[in-house]
Amino acid sequence: MKADVVIVGAGPAGIFTAIEILRNNSTKKIIIVEKGLPIERRRCPKHKTLKCLNCQPYCHITTGFAGAGAFSDGKLSLSCEVGGDLPALIGEQKTQELIDYTDQIYLEFGADQKIEGIANTEEIKEIRKRAIAAGLKLVDCPIRHLGTEKAQEIYLGLERYLIDNGVEILFEHECSNLILKDSRCEGVIVFDGARSFEIFADHTIVATGRRGADWLEKICQEHKIARLVFGDLKSL
Ligand SMILES: Cc1cc2nc3c(=O)[nH]c(=O)nc-3n(C[C@H](O)[C@H](O)[C@H](O)COP(=O)(O)OP(=O)(O)OC[C@H]3O[C@@H](n4cnc5c(N)ncnc54)[C@H](O)[C@@H]3O)c2cc1C
Repeated sequence: MKADVVIVGAGPAGIFTAIEILRNNSTKKIIIVEKGLPIERRRCPKHKTLKCLNCQPYCHITTGFAGAGAFSDGKLSLSCEVGGDLPALIGEQKTQELIDYTDQIYLEFGADQKIEGIANTEEIKEIRKRAIAAGLKLVDCPIRHLGTEKAQEIYLGLERYLIDNGVEILFEHECSNLILKDSRCEGVIVFDGARSFEIFADHTIVATGRRGADWLEKICQEHKIARLVFGDLKSL
C-alpha cells in the first residue's frame, strides 16, 4: 500500500492530525492504522459481567477510534495552565490558541456551548483565599463537559467526517514496526491478524498514546532513533 501520510493510532492525537491535514485543503492520501475497533463497535463486556474480563488482544475501553478516553465523561480543560507541558515548550499564548482552536472543532461537531468551572461564587472566593494563605494557586479552568454519550456521538461524527473526506482507516490493524531506509522512515509494517504487510508513506506519524509508549520506546531503541523527552526539550 502507498499513502502520502500514514498515522498510527486513532486517538485524539491521530484524529486531529488527520483533521488538520484535511483542513489545509490537502489532497494527500491519508491512512490511519488503528489496532482497535471503530467507535460504534467498541463495547466493554463489563456492562454485562460487572467485572473486567481482561479482554484479549486488547481492552476495548482504551483501544479503538477515539482512543483511551472515549468512554470517559469527556471533560475538556480549556486553560493552558492545566494538563501538560506544552506551554513550557511552545509558550502559553500559542498553547492557548491551540486549545481554543481544537475546542472550536469539538463545538462544530456538536459539543455543548456551556462552559463550566468559571463561576466566582463566595465559596470559591473563600477557597481562593485559603489557597493563597497556604502558598497555593487556585487555577481558574474553564471546562467543556461533553458527557459520556455525547462524547461518543461527537467521535462518531469525527470518524464519519474523516472517512467521508477520503481518509482510509484500517481498523484491527496493529503497527508492528517502522520501515527505515538510510535513516529515513519510509512507512510502517502492519499486522491485520492474519498477515503482515507494508504501507509506504512520505510522512509517518506515530500517535500511539500512553499504551503505545513502551512499544514506541522499543522501536526507537531497535532502530537507534534519538528521542527527546520533556526534560531534554526544556534544556535545548
Ligand atoms: C478512563 C480515562 C478517562 C479520561 N478522561 C479524560 C477527560 O475527561 N478529559 C481529557 O482531556 N482527557 C481524559 N483522558 C485522557 C485522554 O483520553 C488522553 O489524554 C488521550 O486519549 C490521549 O490521546 P492520544 O491520541 O495521545 O492517545 P490514545 O487516546 O491512547 O490513542 C492511541 C491510539 O493508538 C492505538 N494504538 C496504540 N498502539 C498501536 C499500534 N502499535 N498500532 C495501531 N494502533 C495502536 C490505540 O488503540 C489508541 O486508539 C482520560 C483517559 C482515560 C484512560
